[in-house]
Amino acid sequence: MKYRRSPQYFIGVDVGGTKIEAVVVNMGLTEAAHSRVPVETENAGRVTESIALAIQNVLDEVQPGPQELCGIGLGIPGLVNDGKVHLAVNLNMDDYPLAAILSKRFGAPVALENDVRLAALGAYGYVQLQTQCQNMAYLSIGTGISAGLILNGQLYRGANGMAGEIGHVIIQPGGPVCSCGAHGCLESVASGHAIADTAREAVAAGRVSSLSACPLITTQDVFEAAEKQDPLALEIVGRVGRYLSQAIQWLVMGYDVERVVLGGGVTHTAEVFMPAVQAGLEQIRSESELAERMLPLEKVVLMPGDYNAGLWGAVRLARTIK
Ligand SMILES: [Zn+2]
Repeated sequence: MKYRRSPQYFIGVDVGGTKIEAVVVNMGLTEAAHSRVPVETENAGRVTESIALAIQNVLDEVQPGPQELCGIGLGIPGLVNDGKVHLAVNLNMDDYPLAAILSKRFGAPVALENDVRLAALGAYGYVQLQTQCQNMAYLSIGTGISAGLILNGQLYRGANGMAGEIGHVIIQPGGPVCSCGAHGCLESVASGHAIADTAREAVAAGRVSSLSACPLITTQDVFEAAEKQDPLALEIVGRVGRYLSQAIQWLVMGYDVERVVLGGGVTHTAEVFMPAVQAGLEQIRSESELAERMLPLEKVVLMPGDYNAGLWGAVRLARTIK
């Protein structure tokens, strides 16, 4: 006798600083509904309501029957352990049992993870479409810098769920002060913020540049000026490329990964971004046979700008819930 198995649905949620995206997929990972809502950040309760709205929106479209919603995976910017969110300063969440709250509300198991760790998991899904790789690093370069690791085919969290937080490794001792309080962290010299700040300071100090005509000087302005061969912008972008290539080398030498995937807002700002990183890698390669062997250019992959790694990482997490 043939009988139809009831459908199974999984929800992935990506919580950002300004918006929340949710997607519901079936067993075959086909997207059934998608929702995007603004996040209200006044307090943890409002954030939770925003998340619940995004989830409810996709549920309303699919209307799963009892037992058909099998799991919700959710990525959030903060430290995540045991279903609780810690130190999510921008979302006013600390020691907050988000998984339990959402699980009770929607009657399904909920798994949480740090957003960049989950983006690494999503990036791994993207890489696996092209190559059978077991070890991969994801380097996110946006307003901040962070990384996530897949080792032996699994997301590697480390002891505290912090594995990959290399944005706060000091790369320029005595350099600019970082949001964490230290001086010269990778994030303080190579993030989107750092690129714009460096250009503003140079212009304020009297450096001649086409950037002095920009009202504010954004990261985008700096990349556009570099494309037009502005010497100051080229200098800044070149330096950022060198710092990021060093970060890529840390990841490759530290974990012997087969791929390093670059993602985050800054990576798609301009055509000059990847050439700057590749020039930095070429420099490292030219100095050492070991580096030449370990850092072939094809090891570094740029993630497409329209692939939401965080969201698809959340879906993958949802599917691992037992
Ligand atoms: Zn720092």
